[in-house]
Amino acid sequence: MSFEQLGLTDELLKAVAEQGYITPTPVQQKAIPLILEGRDVLAGAQTGTGKTASFTLPLLQRLAENSDPHQKPRRVRALILVPTRELAAQVYESVLTYGKHLPLHAETVVGGASISVQTRQLRRGCDIVVATPGRLLDHLQQRNINLSNVEILVLDEADRMLDMGFMPDVRQIMSLIPKQRQSLLFSATVPDAIKTLAASVLNNPAAVEVAKQNATADNVSERVYGIHREYKRELLSYLIGSNNWQQVLVFVRTKHGADRLEKQLIEDGIRTTALHGDKTQGARNKALEYFKSGKVTALVATDIAARGLDIDELPHVVNFDMPQVPEDYIHRIGRTGRAGSNGQALSLVCPEEAWLLAEIEKLLKRQIPRAADTGYEPVSLKVIDAPRKKAPDHIAGKKDYRHTKKNTTRGAKPAQGEKRKPHGEQRKVKK
Ligand code: AMP
Repeated sequence: MSFEQLGLTDELLKAVAEQGYITPTPVQQKAIPLILEGRDVLAGAQTGTGKTASFTLPLLQRLAENSDPHQKPRRVRALILVPTRELAAQVYESVLTYGKHLPLHAETVVGGASISVQTRQLRRGCDIVVATPGRLLDHLQQRNINLSNVEILVLDEADRMLDMGFMPDVRQIMSLIPKQRQSLLFSATVPDAIKTLAASVLNNPAAVEVAKQNATADNVSERVYGIHREYKRELLSYLIGSNNWQQVLVFVRTKHGADRLEKQLIEDGIRTTALHGDKTQGARNKALEYFKSGKVTALVATDIAARGLDIDELPHVVNFDMPQVPEDYIHRIGRTGRAGSNGQALSLVCPEEAWLLAEIEKLLKRQIPRAADTGYEPVSLKVIDAPRKKAPDHIAGKKDYRHTKKNTTRGAKPAQGEKRKPHGEQRKVKK
């Protein structure tokens, strides 16, 4: 099947061809004709399936079909609600890309950006708004936006909106949109709560289901940042802040390291919580709940504490300390890019950890790409056998001390034939 067969207009076909798309994906094949017909749609489709184009293309076409070029200012005729700023940016980008040959104007309305700039933009008028619920409500309360002309409503990643506690906001927003409208609900999973929501939002919907896509390493972009240990925390804060990350899982080696980094990130103004084995179950549940709901941005965890964490589709994972066991690298980055979504896994590697990186790359049978510029003086990650420090006498002399002199050096490679100590354990020797 080709895009032409889906009934899209020349302007959209041109934009699609410019993107290099040749055949529509399954969700596009199913959803586009239904949406063009004016049907409400409930689609079970994840990121990576081409879902954004599957609602953006027909939405643009329907708006363009009866657009009045003389209408000034432009009225909001389509509203796309998404759970996160990141997704808003992606969807907005798609609207611009696919709509570039059409005389339609779009704006984004998301938290974290200047409200006065958004107000000015909204007051100038636009046809399409891509928004996160909280900020849109702020604008509605301030009467900066009028939704009484909305013809098409899209709820994208509805299950995530539900998980993040946005449903009351979404319902309030919906009460301000005309009942007579086309509604499209996209969700990676369709649990009962989404079915209930669909029943109240959609009118005689057509269901579109596409097969799950397996997450592959392809949708996780990995980078190694060579950096001296003392600058790691500064770089991490910079990466979180400058990229406006909303959710990042940071792996550290020890419980003590987790607590310390938590404190430091908080000092840097980043909402952070730590998760490790010394915390009570209640405290751990709370940390996880805060992280999942977006109350905290960074979750600092040890490998053991992170095991079994049920967090899907994490956008960012950072190895603040490199894992002591190469397989743990795979477990750690497996937390991102799940369910076909795009993820980023960054490793901050200091020279003392170069050998750990080398072991990981040996296991992966490939090199992890290096960040071209860390903003700090370049650091060599060539493996040189780390010097073995002598453990302090009072410790080395202790009979029950489990570690030999050789592996008391932080990050030092174990001597040949010597077993590496289990990961996740706190060392008892201070450097
Ligand atoms: P999405 O599921 O909307 O996040 O889309 C995933 C990726 O697939 C995006 O990078 C799109 O640009 C790309 N894409 C969407 N539709 C097609 C298509 N028909 N052919 C090739 N790539 C596509």
